Amino acid sequence: MTIDDLPVRDELRGKSPYGAPQLDVPVRLNTNENPYPLPEPLVERIAERVRQAARHLNRYPDRDAVELRTGLAEYLTKSGGHPVGPGNVWAANGSNEVIQQLLQTFGGPGRTAIGFEPSYSMHGLIARGTGTGWISGPRGEDFTIDLPAAEKAIAEHRPDVVFVTTPNNPTGTAVPAETVLALYEAAQAAGPAMVVVDEAYVEFSHGASLLPLIEGRPNLVVSRTMSKAFGAAGLRLGYLAAHPAVVDAVQLVRLPYHLSAVTQATALAALEHTDTLLKYVEQLKGERDRLVTALRTLGYDVTESDANFVQFGTFADSHVVWRKILDRGVLVRDNGVPGWLRVTAGTPAENDAFLDAVGELVSYVG
Ligand code: PMP
Repeated sequence: MTIDDLPVRDELRGKSPYGAPQLDVPVRLNTNENPYPLPEPLVERIAERVRQAARHLNRYPDRDAVELRTGLAEYLTKSGGHPVGPGNVWAANGSNEVIQQLLQTFGGPGRTAIGFEPSYSMHGLIARGTGTGWISGPRGEDFTIDLPAAEKAIAEHRPDVVFVTTPNNPTGTAVPAETVLALYEAAQAAGPAMVVVDEAYVEFSHGASLLPLIEGRPNLVVSRTMSKAFGAAGLRLGYLAAHPAVVDAVQLVRLPYHLSAVTQATALAALEHTDTLLKYVEQLKGERDRLVTALRTLGYDVTESDANFVQFGTFADSHVVWRKILDRGVLVRDNGVPGWLRVTAGTPAENDAFLDAVGELVSYVG
């Protein structure tokens, strides 16, 4: 008896689930996590807030997560260069759930979504899970979005949802505001369509957030997460900023009480410590830049990065090199981009271990 014997939906047959390996190795630089544990005073504050929340766990949590959305709106207003209020913000269990709710609302059977690949593979997987057709749009040789080719794909396929990931995962490539604006115009002309700007890594970027673009553009959504810059991947807290009508629309598909009281309490505690947490971001940006320089010095090709990870290559067989790095106790990511691998910026010691490992493997550069 296997999955093939079950009456699963046709489009799921023969498919694999998302599966970045979770291996127990000394240096794990494969899932773009923040390497620094939460500071002890924040751990204490989380315990305090969760203890308070525990006293009310007999009741359902605030279904609208108003206090949390207010806190997230304050953070966005302070850091994103554009004032937003709780009515502009919606939160869910990781930005993956935000994306799922957006596709349930604006995609679905008979509709399509497009992304410019290689990009975050979950956009396509969540599309499939929600019955939304997936279109793999093009990228240039240097992994930037080739605007004329992207506009052509939008005009041809007339998608209902357009994903723009900036900085892009796995390449680290930032997308200029002008490109996003042009894609928005193309999507409205062909559509109208929702444009989802996935800014999961924006705090690590050299440039500014595209949050101000939501002004006057009700079909533009910016998606964010506390998994990376806030160092809280285990918390599962993602959020979006958009016109309040978009926030109203996703309510149609969200499960009632989807954000537990424990999650809301923990995220509120983390927001109280925003300034401390963002200091790690500065350190990680420095380490990211160090990795870029060191890899280039070793003779590797490196894609310009605005994120907390670096794409490097090129290899005749990247999976063989992935395995050889793993044999040296360092786990990086093979995203299936031919010739390339991705390494997350870790602590200085972790990055040294990685650089030692790849230093021994220079002969594999193709
Ligand atoms: N968007 C991008 C571009 C990502 O790389 C990730 C995580 N790898 C996510 C969204 C999802 O993050 P989370 O669900 O942890 O918020």
